[in-house]
Amino acid sequence: MKYDFPVIKTASPKEKPNPDTLRFGQLFTDHMFIMEYSSENGWHNGRVQPYAPLQLDPAAAVFHYAQEMFEGLKAYRSKDGRVLLFRPDMNAKRTTNTNERMCIPHIDEELFVEAIKAVVKVDQDWIPNKKGTSLYIRPFIIADEAFLGVRPANHFLFMVILSPVGPYYEGGLAPTKIYVEDEFVRATPGGTGAAKIGGNYAAGLKSQEKAHQNGYEQVLWLDGVERKYVEEIGTSNAFFRIGDEVVTAPLTGTILPGITRDSVINLLKQWGIKVSERRMTIDEVFAAGEAGELVEMFASGTAAVISPVGELSWKGEKITINNGEIGELSQRLYDELYGLQIGEVEDKMGWTV
Ligand code: PMP
Repeated sequence: MKYDFPVIKTASPKEKPNPDTLRFGQLFTDHMFIMEYSSENGWHNGRVQPYAPLQLDPAAAVFHYAQEMFEGLKAYRSKDGRVLLFRPDMNAKRTTNTNERMCIPHIDEELFVEAIKAVVKVDQDWIPNKKGTSLYIRPFIIADEAFLGVRPANHFLFMVILSPVGPYYEGGLAPTKIYVEDEFVRATPGGTGAAKIGGNYAAGLKSQEKAHQNGYEQVLWLDGVERKYVEEIGTSNAFFRIGDEVVTAPLTGTILPGITRDSVINLLKQWGIKVSERRMTIDEVFAAGEAGELVEMFASGTAAVISPVGELSWKGEKITINNGEIGELSQRLYDELYGLQIGEVEDKMGWTV
């Protein structure tokens, strides 16, 4: 193996949680991966060590100018006891692209995947085995150089932490209510929308709060120039089934290139369903909804895999989609993708590792 990281085991392992009460991102395992970067030595000193707080200088660049990035994926335990990751090479590629945009030094994509495997292997007993549960993996990089000038930092930390998580929906798939955000925007052309960085999420909190206050679960983002074209839903990509065409926004730099999105497009094509990556206005969506042609709408992402949308609200107008029920394609995609992820559907694409 090209990478073999030292492991320092914890002397005080924590008690594993009850899989019935797991929620999202509240508990963390016994170990973490950590590696340092300095301009003199490049990335070095990668190791697995006990999970613990960090000590950072208050002047660390990440606190001031937000030079950082993160990723998200899951490990599942298959029925026959294997530990499965879903397309981790895609997270490595997206990290390369995010790093490039953020002036963060490149990490070898194989190292990125091996670092994940190393820490998951040490903490594999933390992978819950109840249906729908998984071990959420959060790789991230921060600029930890103590320096208040505005320029790319010379020192970084790359870390991977793990969190056992419960099923996104307790009773299986459930349609959500989505609020079309026509005031604030998430991304603009030339900005950082396609990069997975904290700043994009901080900027979206206000809209998410507004949606919650109005009784909606998430927002549908419109483009940042004309506030006219549909982009993505909260922290997931958006798909619209209009007649016999499935439409999703193209990757033009303002939306996050989701790994689930890519997998959905791939599966739909294999199934002979027409998929178009094209710009579509919110007017077109509402017109299709009112004409009864918006057959289905769903969001795709690591957290929920597929999340059907049952209601859409825009400027006080509401449409109900598919009578607020789970669409046929949403269910089929969920079953196929989740089945692949847990090793119960034959993986012809070689997506699981
Ligand atoms: N868009 C945004 C803004 C996201 O945060 C995510 C979650 N990573 C996605 C889309 C979906 O991406 P993925 O399918 O890789 O989880």
